[in-house]
Amino acid sequence: MGTPDHRHRVVVIGSGFGGLFSTQALRRDEVDVTLIARTSHHLFQPLLYQVATGILSEGEIAPSTREVLARQKNARVVLGEVTAIDLQARTVTHETMGRVTVTPYDTLIVAAGAGQSYFGNDQFARYAPGMKSIDDALELRGRIFGSFELAELASAPAETDRLMTFVVVGAGPTGVEMAGQIAELAHRTLKRDFRTIDPKTARIILLDAAPTVLGSFGRKLGGRARRRLEKMGVEVRLGAKVVDVDPTGIEVEHPDGTRNRIESVCKVWAAGVSASPLGASLANQSGAGLDRSGRIEVLDDLTLPGHPEVFVVGDMISLRDLPGVAQVAIQGGRYAAEQIRRRLAGTEPKGPFEYVDKGSMATISRFSAVASVGRVQFSGFIAWILWLAVHLVYIIGFKHRVTTLLHWSVSFLGRGRAERVVTEQQVFARQAIEALGERFQPHLPRVPEDRADNGTGQG
Ligand SMILES: Cc1cc2nc3c(=O)[nH]c(=O)nc-3n(C[C@H](O)[C@H](O)[C@H](O)COP(=O)(O)OP(=O)(O)OC[C@H]3O[C@@H](n4cnc5c(N)ncnc54)[C@H](O)[C@@H]3O)c2cc1C
Repeated sequence: MGTPDHRHRVVVIGSGFGGLFSTQALRRDEVDVTLIARTSHHLFQPLLYQVATGILSEGEIAPSTREVLARQKNARVVLGEVTAIDLQARTVTHETMGRVTVTPYDTLIVAAGAGQSYFGNDQFARYAPGMKSIDDALELRGRIFGSFELAELASAPAETDRLMTFVVVGAGPTGVEMAGQIAELAHRTLKRDFRTIDPKTARIILLDAAPTVLGSFGRKLGGRARRRLEKMGVEVRLGAKVVDVDPTGIEVEHPDGTRNRIESVCKVWAAGVSASPLGASLANQSGAGLDRSGRIEVLDDLTLPGHPEVFVVGDMISLRDLPGVAQVAIQGGRYAAEQIRRRLAGTEPKGPFEYVDKGSMATISRFSAVASVGRVQFSGFIAWILWLAVHLVYIIGFKHRVTTLLHWSVSFLGRGRAERVVTEQQVFARQAIEALGERFQPHLPRVPEDRADNGTGQG
């Protein structure tokens, strides 16, 4: 409860799906919400691959959180990296450019999400960026378009081949979408743009240690996705575990123990996630367990053992095998808000958190997607239209929806890419940030000691 000098204080960590939707769900309540996040935007991660391949601009998928919440009078947005949570003192410590602030809470909602996992091989990140942030997507855009530019200048065939071979690691939805879009870029968008090279000859290789494409969609849809990718010219190599990555290539190991090297400058890592390290700190203080991906084992009502005032939602939680998808975070955030409302009103709490599975979808190329809704599985054009509609609904803001629709028309009805700008900063920023030291690289992956596994089989 609040006290005579202040209303009930809710602190929310993270401006992703869990953080933003829980804050919005509290808009009519007699509480003061402080949302603390290390980026000033709400990121729509499912469309990051479209930023990386020049279809959308970063602004379209990352509206300013401050702007989104501008009319919500009981919410305050604070930019900062949360460095500590003290469950006894009920405070959150956060840092912004060296300025440290301690914010007290009555109820805490932790929605800090997950980062990329390299299964204990963090050194791979330098040569095979993941896809978790706007920085990642812009860096990849620079690397993808930059590879074609360098290939145009290459003097030896081997160099051209290396530059025109793109490897995507991880055949889950992100890897499939990425491989499909690089293929469309090479075979459709760029086909007339160069004079020395022929972009249509670019090789796109999709690798996974697991035996199937889109494992979570089942064999039937996975098989269809694989056939569609192969028809588009993507080489799908399954049962191939990545054992080394360097500036000019990638080494894979096959089930029979043999190894081979693929010469490739541009590699994309779309395999594996590990939960925010804040989960480990909460686990230490509350005695909750942590799974192999660093996700915290919450109680049925999404709270921590012995701490009903602390909710954890979204990608950070391990509960009844719930998947790391946007709907789990959105529904978890809304559930936490409802529990807070009931507690303040002194009414009966809601029962355990029940996730309503609204289905899953992945695009493969323009006009082609796979979808699984309840027991119904379908693929092709209808699935693609459904994918477009669902993603449009969840993009925040009317303005962003309109421009996204426009850019999709340019890319899917025509063959253009509206966002082909690449700057030096995009390509070299990661190295520059690394040179500044760990303190200034909050978005780079931090993998827990024990290896994470998201079911892709990599690791
Ligand atoms: C490339 C990609 C494609 C995806 N495609 C799909 C899809 O098609 N469909 C689907 O349902 N799901 C998809 N997902 C998964 C989905 O995006 C996540 O499940 C969802 O974003 C989880 O929401 P969250 O709120 O838990 O975390 P996030 O959305 O990741 O938000 C975490 C927030 O916490 C902040 N944060 C983290 N650490 C700190 C800290 N220490 N201090 C302050 N702030 C911090 C971050 O800046 C961010 O604002 C995809 C994910 C990726 C990466």
